Formats: sequence, structure tokens, C-alpha cells
Amino acid sequence: MIESFGADYAAPLLSALATPAQVSVRANALKGYAPPAGADLVPWWPQGFYLDERPLFAADPAWHQGLYYVQEASSMIYTEAVRRVAALVASGEPLRYLDACAAPGGKTISALAALSPDDFVVANELDRHRANILYENIARYGATNVGLSRGDALRYSKLKEAFDIIAVDAPCSGEGMMRKEPEAVAQWSPSLIASCAAVQREILAGLWRALKPGGVLIYSTCTFNRSENEENIDRLIAETGATSLDLGLDTFTGVRRGIGTDSFCYRLSPGHVRGEGIFIAAVRKPGECRRADGKDRKTAPCSAFAKAHVAASDELTEVMCADRLEVRPRAHARFIASLEPAVSLMRGGLPVAITKGRDMVPVHDLALSAALIPGSFPLLELDYAAALDFLRGESMSDIPSDLPRGFFTPAYAGVPLGFAKNIGRRANNLMPDALRLRLDPRGLSQPEPLVVPQINHQTL
Ligand code: SAM
Repeated sequence: MIESFGADYAAPLLSALATPAQVSVRANALKGYAPPAGADLVPWWPQGFYLDERPLFAADPAWHQGLYYVQEASSMIYTEAVRRVAALVASGEPLRYLDACAAPGGKTISALAALSPDDFVVANELDRHRANILYENIARYGATNVGLSRGDALRYSKLKEAFDIIAVDAPCSGEGMMRKEPEAVAQWSPSLIASCAAVQREILAGLWRALKPGGVLIYSTCTFNRSENEENIDRLIAETGATSLDLGLDTFTGVRRGIGTDSFCYRLSPGHVRGEGIFIAAVRKPGECRRADGKDRKTAPCSAFAKAHVAASDELTEVMCADRLEVRPRAHARFIASLEPAVSLMRGGLPVAITKGRDMVPVHDLALSAALIPGSFPLLELDYAAALDFLRGESMSDIPSDLPRGFFTPAYAGVPLGFAKNIGRRANNLMPDALRLRLDPRGLSQPEPLVVPQINHQTL
């Protein structure tokens, strides 16, 4: 199949498939972290960089703190694609963005990095287990302007013209991941391609209804065949009258235009770029874009707990979801509430606390949030061994006598790891069960920091 795409495309790709995949990570600029000096940067996303070998990420507190995210380099082009799409649809009003097939969350994080904090992202995933992983990765990233839902993407087709941008990173036959994930090889068959293409067309057709006139749909896969890629884009354009958008991604060395199409489609392929296989294209829905109305701002301000602990709380409102308190951007609060009859939200904004009687127990998401006000909970610095013990969920003894009773943030290198409650010389560990580190800490040594605090040049 690949040979039919021409020798200049096929030969480098086929020989690269016999070599190992590159490991890469993206630094979390939202939390103020950047690649170290001299890092081997990913050409299309300068917060992303290659590593010489794969470290044991689970043994690195910085991974648990969300200071970086492990992402295959080609996928990082998504940030640049979303940045260019957002510039095309921008009108000064906040954008609403749906990531329809989102787990484990790499493209959601890529989109959040490209969009303004005033925009709102909803990320959805069908599979329950994968949805939990999505939740964890988004919590680690630490943004407030993101909601998560679990269920079939097609549920969003009930929300007519709700989103400015919809991203469909479709379930696919995974040919582009074959050297990274051996199970993709085992599962491949021609009938898999046909069934994936049919599912993709169904998702695209259903979600088209949820896109505003003038809005943009970004379609991507991690596979090479044309049926799941260019043919789906050309069919969508033919059926809807959509316009193919020139994102200019082929200005990056090695990024190729689509095969056998006049539409603007882009292929990143091993042997051509230092990364795995990604196909990406964007199309614009005909019509004039209608902007979000400003009425969402007429919402209740936050109460004392959120004001004390969450930055920019004037821009947020509070919502109780059963016993859980969430803060949500005021500009999107009604919009988020309007999603709920159609879809099942795992979070509609940033969860901050559980109410227990009159007490507010802070939740892990708040400790990992970039919006947590530094110093609003006491911070207890831990060494590497103690940080691993905390991540493993162990209770803490020998708490310093000057640490106030109540909730505090155990921290490593000055950054919170989670919450604990000081009950006097001892502390209860509030690390959620599902996130507890299962590694045996014996024999692990303190890793060199992979990312470094960003230098603010204005203060130099
Ligand atoms: N965007 C993700 C990222 O960058 O980390 C990768 C997404 S993966 C290619 C496709 C995802 O779609 C899978 O997690 C799969 O479980 C999910 N999926 C499959 N069918 C779906 C559906 N009908 N609705 C929503 N998600 C679906």
C-alpha cells in the first residue's frame, strides 16, 4: 500500500519503520516550565524536545506534578495547527472547542497550549478506562478552562452549532504508531481499515451539526492509508460544501502535503520527520460565524474558599456537583450547564473541594492546578525519598511542630504533589487511590530535572 504512494515517500518511511521510535516530552508552560538549555527541540513546537532514552517517568516527581507531558513529537504539531485555526476564527470573543475523541489527552493539552485562557475546551472520551487516564492527565496539566465528558462523541450531535472548533482525532487503524506500539501491527487488517473509515465518517457527519457556521473542524489520524485520511476529508468537503484550510504546516521540513488530493492535508511520517505518523487537515463550515453571547457573565461570584485559593477568581463562578465544588469560567458557565442534558460531564471546570459537613476538603485537582494561589495552603518541602512515599499514598510522620494543623501541600522542588492533613506530628495522605504510585521505591535514584523553571526575561 505504502509503495503505491511513490518511492520518494515510501522508501524513507519503510526504512524508518525498522528503527526505534524517538522519545519526546513537552514542557508545561502553563506551570512556568520550559526545556533545559541546549535541549534538542521539536521543530514545530519549541516547548517540546527529544530525549536520548526513555527514563522511568513514574519515578520522576515532576511527571506527577504535571511539569511535562510525554508526547510523541509529530503529535505536537497539533498546537501549531490549533494556533493557526484559532487565529482564523478569532473575533475577540472567547472560543468554544470540542476535542471529541480525547484520551489519553495529548491533543487536548496541545490545544490548551494554543488557545487563550479565555477560551473553553471540552474533551470527550468513549472508553471508561481511557477516560479516567484523560482525567488524570488533564488534572496534571493544571488548566481551569477545560471540562471533560465520557461517552460516544455522537452525543454532541444533539448540541446544534455549539462549538467554534471541533477536533476529531479519530480512532483509526494506527499504522503510524506501528513501530511505537507493537499491538497496532497485530491488530491491522484490510477490514480494520474499512471499518475504521466507516466509523470516522459517522463521527464526522454527526459532529458537523455541532459546529457553528464559519467554525472549523480539525481532523487527524495516526494512520497512513488514504481511505481514513484524504478520502474522508474529500468526502466531507463534497457532502457539506466545506472549505479546505491552508494551514501551511508543510513549511516545516519533512511535512508533506496529502496524497492524491487538492485539499490542504498534511502528513508527518517517520523517515521524513523525527516522529511517528500523523495525518491532519482542517475544513471550515460554510456560513457566518455567530459569536458566544456575553450573558454568561451574569453568574454568582465565588465564595470564600475559592477566593482564598484560586487565582483570578473574579473571572470564575462556583457550581456544586453533588458534594463536589467546582470553579468554572464565568464567561462559559451557562454554556457548560447547557452541555449537561446531552453529555455526561466528569468535570465542567476545576474541581476544588469536597464538602464534608461544614468542612471543605481540598481535592487533588486543586493541588495540581496552575491557578492554585502559592502559599494559600502551607507547603512542606520533601526530599526525593519522602516525595515518592507521599506519591505512594503513605501516611506521614515526623511533621514539623511549626506546621499548622489542617490541610497543607507536601511539595518537591517547591511544587505541590497533592494534599495532606496535619493532625499533629502525623499527617493523613489525601493522594487519590487511583493515582498512587505502585513502584517499589527501593533502588530508585533522584532523576535529573527534565524541565526547568521558565526565565521571565522582563524581570531580568
Ligand atoms: N486525541 C488523543 C490524544 O492525542 O491523546 C488520542 C485519541 S485516539 C487516536 C482515539 C480515541 O477515540 C480513543 O481513545 C478511543 O477510545 C476513542 N473513541 C473511539 N470511538 C469513540 C467514539 N465514538 N466517541 C468518542 N471517543 C471514541
